Amino acid sequence: MGQWHSLSTTEVLRQTETAVTGLSEQEVIQRRAVHGLNELAGKKKRGPWMLFLLQFTDFMILVLMAAAIISGIAGDLTDTIIILVIVLLNAVIGFFQEYRAEKALEALKKIASFKAHVVRDGNTVLLPSSSLVPGDIVLLEAGNVVPADLRLLESFALRIDESALTGESVPSEKDIAPIGDSEAAVADRLNMAYKSTLVTNGRATAVVIATGMATEIGRIAQMLDQKESVTPLQRRMADFGRKLSYIILFICALLFVVGWLRGEEPLRMLLLSISLAVAAIPEALPALITIALARGARRLVTQHALVRKLPAVETLGSVSFICTDKTGTLTQNKMKVSSLWSGSTKDTETLHQYPLLHGVLALNTDVRANNAGELSGDPTELAMIEWFCATYNVDKWSLLLKELPRVGELPFDSDRKCMTTVHQLQKGYLSVSKGAVESVSAALRNKQHSAEILQEAKEMAEQGIRVIAFGYKWLEELPEPFSYEKLESGLEFAGLAGLIDPPREEAALAIKECKAAGIHTVMITGDHPNTAAAIARTLGILGDDDLVLTGKELQQMPASRFDEIVEKVRVYARVSPEQKLNIVTALQRRNHFVSMTGDGVNDAPSLKAANIGVAMGINGTDVSKEAAHMILLDDNFATIVKAVKEGRRIYDNIRKFVKYIMTCNGAEIWTLFLAPLLGLPIPLLPIHILWINLVTDGLPGLALAGEKAEKDIMQRPPRKPGESLFAEGIGYHIAWVGLLMAGVTLATQAWALAEQKEHWQTMVFTVLSLAQLGHVMAIRSERQFLFRQGFFSNLPLLGAVSLTFLLQMAVIYLPLGNQLFKTQPLTLSELGLCILASGVVFHAVEVEKFIKHLFRRKHSS
Ligand code: ADP
Ligand code: MG
Repeated sequence: MGQWHSLSTTEVLRQTETAVTGLSEQEVIQRRAVHGLNELAGKKKRGPWMLFLLQFTDFMILVLMAAAIISGIAGDLTDTIIILVIVLLNAVIGFFQEYRAEKALEALKKIASFKAHVVRDGNTVLLPSSSLVPGDIVLLEAGNVVPADLRLLESFALRIDESALTGESVPSEKDIAPIGDSEAAVADRLNMAYKSTLVTNGRATAVVIATGMATEIGRIAQMLDQKESVTPLQRRMADFGRKLSYIILFICALLFVVGWLRGEEPLRMLLLSISLAVAAIPEALPALITIALARGARRLVTQHALVRKLPAVETLGSVSFICTDKTGTLTQNKMKVSSLWSGSTKDTETLHQYPLLHGVLALNTDVRANNAGELSGDPTELAMIEWFCATYNVDKWSLLLKELPRVGELPFDSDRKCMTTVHQLQKGYLSVSKGAVESVSAALRNKQHSAEILQEAKEMAEQGIRVIAFGYKWLEELPEPFSYEKLESGLEFAGLAGLIDPPREEAALAIKECKAAGIHTVMITGDHPNTAAAIARTLGILGDDDLVLTGKELQQMPASRFDEIVEKVRVYARVSPEQKLNIVTALQRRNHFVSMTGDGVNDAPSLKAANIGVAMGINGTDVSKEAAHMILLDDNFATIVKAVKEGRRIYDNIRKFVKYIMTCNGAEIWTLFLAPLLGLPIPLLPIHILWINLVTDGLPGLALAGEKAEKDIMQRPPRKPGESLFAEGIGYHIAWVGLLMAGVTLATQAWALAEQKEHWQTMVFTVLSLAQLGHVMAIRSERQFLFRQGFFSNLPLLGAVSLTFLLQMAVIYLPLGNQLFKTQPLTLSELGLCILASGVVFHAVEVEKFIKHLFRRKHSS
């Protein structure tokens, strides 16, 4: 083990008992039984039981259980049992929510997992990386994440970024020669590729020598212990909760002392104070936030946005700049040749009976045809081959490729914006280059026509047409070295091809929606500035006062100047992937929250630096996906906007349930704390408080997370990142509505006592419980009145409210409820009164919306 790098490739194949044609299915099954799945074990999974028991680790809950048991021994056993049952029910609800959230996250991870090209039984197939076994033959290409530990068998210009493993950030050049030193360090084993490292260049064939935990990365223990990321909101919530709990504990202690001094029985007073503390400390909020985010992530998948990092769900709502690719994201990526132009001189030259331009266009391509004659490849190239095959036919194209076989190539890259293929002739060679007009015209031998060519290209580009230029030269022999400098210079001009790529229909709408939502859309493309500008104008991205900037201009601009104009630029053309990083950081310096899309290997740094890095699910490389926070499963711009909207909705709803729970808890505290100060007897029993806490926090609170988006959600500016959860008057709301609830409750108590109602406590219990239900209905929308938002638009919430109401009735009217909760059946008029009193809260919150509405109107006019 560990010596694979010093063996020859044949020896490696012999020892792994495999061949270049791959393993058989049978063999794979046997090996999987021995080696298991190719997965890193990750954090130890918590079993369901563990998860359930974890629900009881909260300190105050333990104190409550202890106190209940002590008081049970001292006297009232029913109370103890009820308390324990309520605590248990609470745990069950918590458990189910968390369990479902964990399952949802696991499912997301599965969708996000990578695939690898594997040779099995002589066929190349695309399989999940987890299914690899030692001995499998895999194919690597630029953009892949290496799926297992591999020994290279064949490699072409292969470069791998091994920083995940060695910390070395410069990609190392790989080849297949055995290495003499059997003790060579991992970083020096140049004929190996290690799991989780990134292929930045070239391609290779390799054999799997280790999988899963037996890989080098699997052996680095700390890598596996990846901390689950805590979102900023959760962190703030946990901090806030801690501070709040000290205050609550203090109030509860005070309550205890006051009660004791007033001559209440100490043990009962203790139980009451502890129950209040348990009910009022919002210890579950961080967990509830995770649950809401996980549910949001699951919903996003159905809209084709796959969230890789949970905090992204929360931060999506703050996005103020969306930087997006043009080709494929804003456009359909279904290109078509719209015109060919070969200038004034080229009419007579031919290549194998084809006009020269047609011939070179058919040769310089990576498009493949399968046996059925179906073409596949890069959309730009596909368009040209489709044109050729439509003009002539597929067989003629294949024949041309056969007659002039390719003997060398310089692949396309988005920095050069050019590619070259070299073809064998009867005598000598033909080298064909195609690429951006600037690239090709700069490589022409005769610069005389350059101006004419660039002018023609500009005119085509102004109509939104993508222009590709072709050049060629005859060679006596293959150049040595086979380099860009040698091949992409001294070219003859062959012509231009114009391609149309219609904008996606939904893109224009999505861009409009962004505008209303205070989000700026920016197009970033490698294409010609005129093409880009024309399309940006059609889509509504580019207005009259907005700027178009080219990569060259950007490069020459001092950083300070760029910072000044960056907010005005709507189109970046002819930029290299490296420059995307400049754009992201400049916008961030202006306090913007930036979403950036990317698909290539070189896009990884800008995706990581963006607040929301977005990779393409269909056309993106593994490397870009690995770096991204979110993956578009349909490569569609409109999906980003949908995700932003969903992010805003989720954040809104988190705010709503925080508001709801905190208000309820506040009301409970005020009620119990103010009663003795007003000279009233203790209004509620410990079990009443726990009950209210269980049914209100538990059911309707969670259902709030399912509230649909408010109607104006995309008509307000993005939320400021880092804005407090209690911004926009939520803090006040919590304070005054809590007080109002307590006020109504205590007023009912005072009145009932004055009227000498013997059911006064049941009435107090009922008013407080129903007031919370009224409150939850009212805060379903922050701005709209309940009936405008749609009464039936959140059925789970309606169900939860009805259920809670019925449970409350059961507690009052069933003999068992009376016995357990020490309640009495209310008369119809008493119940009516309770409903009226609790309705005050609902109406007050609706009036609050109205006042806020007037206030906003005054401010905006
Ligand atoms: P984008 O994806 O933003 O449209 P690219 O980086 O793919 O831009 O392409 C930039 C430029 O490179 C194009 O405008 C075109 O001129 C040229 N180009 C694109 N694809 C190819 C290709 N397959 N072969 C040669 N040149 C290409
Ligand atoms: Mg492209």
